[in-house]
Amino acid sequence: MERVLDARCRCGGRLKKSTTEVEFFGIDFGMKEAEVCTRCGSEYLPQEAESEVKKRGLFGLERRGRVSKSGNSLVIRIPKEIAKSLKIEGDMPVVIYPSEPKKLVVEVGS
Ligand SMILES: [Zn+2]
Repeated sequence: MERVLDARCRCGGRLKKSTTEVEFFGIDFGMKEAEVCTRCGSEYLPQEAESEVKKRGLFGLERRGRVSKSGNSLVIRIPKEIAKSLKIEGDMPVVIYPSEPKKLVVEVGS
């Protein structure tokens, strides 16, 4: 079920409608109708599929943990699914700061 469209990819190639297996953040979203470039293979998701992917991507990656103590510091473990999806590895530099009263931001690799 493929149909070539008038729309073009940013590489200049033609887009075609295609049903494709969508995967983001290591989460499988199943088969979705997408526009795929016939030249470079870039995938463009329709708006509603993209927002579903974003929503499920965020909630799907939420993990509960607990702060533990190590000497005078506190330790928060990063679950392996989150580490994997953000490509976080041991020894990477991080910047850590509070953003809201109960929120902590960790910037990785900066
Ligand atoms: Zn392309």
